Amino acid sequence: MIKTKSPIWHPFTQHALQDEMIKIVRGDGAYLHTADGRRIIDAISSWWVVTHGHCHPHIVRAIQKQAGKLNQMIFAGYTHDPAEEVAALLLKLAPHGLDHVFFSDSGSASVEVALKMALGYWHNIGKQRIRIVVMQHSYHGDTVGAMSVGARSVFNAAYGPLLFEVTSIPFPARGREQVTLDALESVCRNEIPAAFIVEPLILGAGGMLMYPAWVLKEMKRICEASEVLFIADEVMTGWGRTGTLFACEQANVTPDIACYSKGLTGGALPLAVTLCRADIFDAHYSKDRTRTFFHSSSYTANPVACAAAKANLDLWQSQESRQLVASVAAMQERAVEPFRADPRFANVRRAGTITALDLQTSDAGYLASTGPKLQAFFKDRNLLLRPLGNTIYVMPPYCVTATDLDQIYAAIRDSADALA
Ligand SMILES: *Cc1c(COP(=O)(O)O)cnc(C)c1O
Repeated sequence: MIKTKSPIWHPFTQHALQDEMIKIVRGDGAYLHTADGRRIIDAISSWWVVTHGHCHPHIVRAIQKQAGKLNQMIFAGYTHDPAEEVAALLLKLAPHGLDHVFFSDSGSASVEVALKMALGYWHNIGKQRIRIVVMQHSYHGDTVGAMSVGARSVFNAAYGPLLFEVTSIPFPARGREQVTLDALESVCRNEIPAAFIVEPLILGAGGMLMYPAWVLKEMKRICEASEVLFIADEVMTGWGRTGTLFACEQANVTPDIACYSKGLTGGALPLAVTLCRADIFDAHYSKDRTRTFFHSSSYTANPVACAAAKANLDLWQSQESRQLVASVAAMQERAVEPFRADPRFANVRRAGTITALDLQTSDAGYLASTGPKLQAFFKDRNLLLRPLGNTIYVMPPYCVTATDLDQIYAAIRDSADALA
């Protein structure tokens, strides 16, 4: 089949291998509806952003209302209610001790902001700390700074010369947690780094790798002892995914800097925030203009996106969302449990509402053909699943039903035979 040279250059897409794009005309709840009348179950929340379901009525109404009132304005020297309301609610719901909110428009941008806050902090208090410590297999986004603190791989090989150097500590694999903690302790003591950035409890794009809350807590303790700023990248883990509103809650950890995006608007519009402790803001607070936090994007705190975030935060204020998360977590556990005894799969795991399992295959790795073959298999079953290599994961919106999950896991079970 001859592939078309699409005028649109799609993300993470090799157009020479891509079948025709599926056209979606409508989304509702856990479903996407195609132009040719099929209904697809969105088992990965459209790349992890949709939390309460597509086109949630409360969020849609908030967007409609705000769009006709004030839909964009400069955010330097001016402010607006939707941003003020979102900031106030965030500070109420986020781990206690985070005091300021900086708005941006994507997870990558929120990470860039976090790194700049950290470096700005040390610069402004007159200390030479510039090194960033990262965890092996991490993903923090695709802009240059975010790539620099993420895993080096085929995804960024061409851009290597642009990336800054970091120090990497090993992933805390089961039974090897102490190796990670010892490495972090030694780096903090010997390199006097500026900050440590980490995805709490689950490394997403790195393969849905999970580690326990006590390790997160220990890492925070180690950083604190050496005054290394602790940056929690909760861009994926936030908004209920790990079973609590934010993953850090499970370790009773307040990061010095936290990044939230993806589900911040329930997945309706692009928006991100970077929260920080008072001392980081205070290091920039001065009559001296050179100490300003020099960062902005044109659409900082877009009012419509903020109105969507406010509506999302309303939903999290009610017990209903938390109950839904608990029930999805329980349904996910029931659904994935039988795979623990299935020799065709390995590393069957779950954290909150997310499950992941590795298909046993000789053809592993992200660029191996297993991933695309699985994707095509699921596509034929009207399921949106996008395995990371041979790692299949399910991260549904919280309105997913037990029947939807039955369909998803039946297909996963069948995929092993289809690919064998
Ligand atoms: C998706 C993701 C990002 C990047 O967010 P974008 O909105 O795609 O820029 C950063 N960090 C983590 C942990 C993510 O999962």
